[in-house]
Amino acid sequence: MAGIVIDGVSKYFKGEKAAVYDLDLEVEDGEFVVVVGPSGCGKTTTLRMLAGFETPTKGTIRIGGKVVNQVPPKDRDLAMVFQNYALFPHMTIQKNLAFGMKIRRTPRTTIKKEVEEIAGMLGISQLLGRKPGELSGGERQRVALGRALLRRPQVFLLDEPLSNLDAALRAQMRVELKRIHAQYPVTTIYVTHDQVEAMTMADRVALMQGGRLQQIAKPETLYEQPTNIFAASFVGTPKINFFPGTLRREDAGVDLSFLSCTQRLNGSLGAKLSQFVVEDVTVGFRPEDIRLAPGTAGELPLVSATVELVEPLGSETNVVARVMDQVITCKFPARTGLSSGDVIQLEFDMAQVKLFDKESTNHLN
Ligand code: ATP
Repeated sequence: MAGIVIDGVSKYFKGEKAAVYDLDLEVEDGEFVVVVGPSGCGKTTTLRMLAGFETPTKGTIRIGGKVVNQVPPKDRDLAMVFQNYALFPHMTIQKNLAFGMKIRRTPRTTIKKEVEEIAGMLGISQLLGRKPGELSGGERQRVALGRALLRRPQVFLLDEPLSNLDAALRAQMRVELKRIHAQYPVTTIYVTHDQVEAMTMADRVALMQGGRLQQIAKPETLYEQPTNIFAASFVGTPKINFFPGTLRREDAGVDLSFLSCTQRLNGSLGAKLSQFVVEDVTVGFRPEDIRLAPGTAGELPLVSATVELVEPLGSETNVVARVMDQVITCKFPARTGLSSGDVIQLEFDMAQVKLFDKESTNHLN
């Protein structure tokens, strides 16, 4: 197994805009890193450079301490599962799975045992006698995964490997892949645009936008301490709410005004914010950090809102409410008994507020 170091890597195809720009990323030996971001942000290009299908325009890539910029794909000891996984069409699934081990002259009995084990794990045991053309897209994807797993490489590269599966199977495979990784902790880079996959599977998440790495952090840190507005809005369902706000420094502390309320920020939050000269901020509250308050209108720090939409999800209720021209999404407990048109009082959990510089969009607190 091997760690990966991507050092100042950029990739330009044509023109001036880089597909990947000045990327620094260190992945520890055995770590599971998920690269996530919107379409076109440079995820696949990053993976293809690691695999050796693209050469970086600038910077170096090290795998297991060795610079591999000029090393051809076959000599990098990687196993890959890409969006368009290629299986040998004329071979049975059994033979497709066994191929790598056969090349390595693994004893027949070992091949049989390992193929059966991995097929069982991936739920494709009944397909071993068929050919790829006789399988559904999701089944083929699982075969491609199985084949890569059986290679026992030092690095595992996966590009949207679950994209062809239905929601239930995808959820099951997420768990399976994590279990397999716990069993065989191969250094893994997993590319997806799906924030749920990133948050549930990663040891660390690398979030990209426009070819640039925005943040690399543990899933909880990405959620609690997003580096900027993009990172804050990329993770979390429903999405975080943003409001325009103003900070005013008083002798006794810092006041934050947003919507129709002003809050005194005390303690460490106030102390931290008093260091900044920024006045105009973007105030972020995740839907679960807004509560339905029993108080009456006009009481500070409550904000009056009118319910526009109620989405009962069973265990909780998403409520979309309006305060003037601002739409707010809240996550309330189940059985709120609310309906559209109701006037409610909202209470904001100030311990969870996320403040961003309006200009740079960077997180301040
Ligand atoms: P998706 O989630 O849609 O697969 P991605 O994040 O994987 O997107 P990339 O495929 O890495 O994004 O593409 C990053 C940028 O580089 C895009 O603007 C894309 O158009 C461009 N690009 C990718 N491959 C090439 C190529 N071979 N030639 C020219 N431009 C390319």
